[in-house]
Amino acid sequence: MWQSLLGRLRLRDINSGVYGGRWLDRPSGETIESLNPATGEVLARVLLGGENDYDVVAGNSLAAFAAWRKMPPPQRGEIVRLIGEQLRKHKDDLGMLVTLEAGKIRSEGLGEVQEMIDMCDFAVGLSRQLYGLTIASERPEHRLFEQWHPLGPVGVITAFNFPVAVWAWNAALALVCGDPVIWKPSQLTPLTAIAVQQLVNDILEPRGLAGVLNLCAADRDVGEQMAADGRLPLVSATGSTAMGKSVAKTVAERLGRSLLELGGNNGCIVTESADLDLALRAILFAAVGTAGQRCTTLRRLIVHESHAEQLVTRLTKAYQNITVGLPWEEGTLLGPLISESAVKQYTTAITTIKQQGGEVLCGGKQIDRAGYYVQPTIVRAKPAMEIIKHETFAPILYVLTYRELEEAIALHNGVPQGLSSAIFTDRFREAEQFLSPWGSDCGIANVNLGPSGAEIGGAFGGEKETGGGREAGSDAWKTYMRRQTCTLNFGKTLPLAQGVKFDV
Ligand code: NAD
Repeated sequence: MWQSLLGRLRLRDINSGVYGGRWLDRPSGETIESLNPATGEVLARVLLGGENDYDVVAGNSLAAFAAWRKMPPPQRGEIVRLIGEQLRKHKDDLGMLVTLEAGKIRSEGLGEVQEMIDMCDFAVGLSRQLYGLTIASERPEHRLFEQWHPLGPVGVITAFNFPVAVWAWNAALALVCGDPVIWKPSQLTPLTAIAVQQLVNDILEPRGLAGVLNLCAADRDVGEQMAADGRLPLVSATGSTAMGKSVAKTVAERLGRSLLELGGNNGCIVTESADLDLALRAILFAAVGTAGQRCTTLRRLIVHESHAEQLVTRLTKAYQNITVGLPWEEGTLLGPLISESAVKQYTTAITTIKQQGGEVLCGGKQIDRAGYYVQPTIVRAKPAMEIIKHETFAPILYVLTYRELEEAIALHNGVPQGLSSAIFTDRFREAEQFLSPWGSDCGIANVNLGPSGAEIGGAFGGEKETGGGREAGSDAWKTYMRRQTCTLNFGKTLPLAQGVKFDV
């Protein structure tokens, strides 16, 4: 089934994971196997890039920058429009490849490509709206304004769980802002990255724009090399908090700019007034969707004590009805984890949960079938359990109870991460308190919907150990540009600011 898909996406003849204006013939990194996590089968072998290959790519992207920054932004937007059209044409195939390589169910694989298309559409509009301010000058016959200029090549390091969408959040904005991109995808999902590069090459190469979008499929050592590379004014890194801390430190040492999208540990408060039917549906998608491997996955459910038993009973029942299966099959809701090591992390977490006094209410075991499947799991937890402060990248939901909203908010905020959050309430005061400065401390806060599944129109990202970065919509584009404040004197005198006199 997938052989013809690889053919259509032109992945059969390309085993090099490195593109810097052209596919590099024999990159010097190791050869890795891209696996189908639902079966453990090898999809393809990919030659990764090494240190020298990255160097070639970075050099090329710097050369591409010289021309790309001169193209007027709306013309750059036109290129992004064509890339969006290309993705529309290949949505079905690319979505299926995401399903095959990352194990996401079919609608989520397609949703990810739709997110790329949405990002392109957003960026096309943005290409005519890279506004600077005009500011009232205190000096006569002076004009004070700011303008935004391209920054330079942007390094984009991505995680396995959104193997293509996160690239688009960055690449679509970077392109209209005038920046070339070097993409280092996760070593667990190199094929989707190569497929995207092939598709965008069809747009860029005939127009003499090869080198504007580049790829270096490689191990984390090349990620480290990117963080240290002074040719990249911005490194945008998505992944674990441990990775972000390392990247942040290295980039800061050279006083570069980093944009970090790191781990989450997302909570949802279900109040006394909540619509439980609505909450139940939202919790299921947020906690079990993508097999618990979203940065916005719901991990901590904080329920008013009056509803705890009822909600847990209904949830446990619903968990038993979740269809586990091959992710490309219709009706499947729970696919595999990404790898054997992810399964190991899940089983280790279950042992730790029990040691720390958690009660496994349902699930808790690896599923006995080919591929990397685990049971979606609900745990009755206690606030003192250390493990609930950590992100285990698997479908494990901790249930905690509360009496007063202040207590729920304190519990909610009492973790190192600060990505996404939600409250279910029919009381206006509770909703507003949750959204107030003393409410949720996260970058995303929702009322009567779950923490997972953001639209691209808003800026996406989180606080604390989630890294503080913002990507996608709103004014996230500003991170990809440099701001220049300009003052222009159209008079014949030279008044100084703050009334300073300096006449000879
Ligand atoms: P990971 O940290 O293992 O790897 C992410 C990427 O970073 C990979 O490309 C990897 O090669 C690279 N990398 C690892 N160590 C590095 C280093 N020291 N220097 C430079 N690059 C390095 O993460 P993962 O397992 O692929 O993804 C899951 C994690 O990503 C979860 O923590 C999840 O919450 C997070 N995530 C966050 C967001 C967000 O927007 N906040 C989105 C998706 C995933």
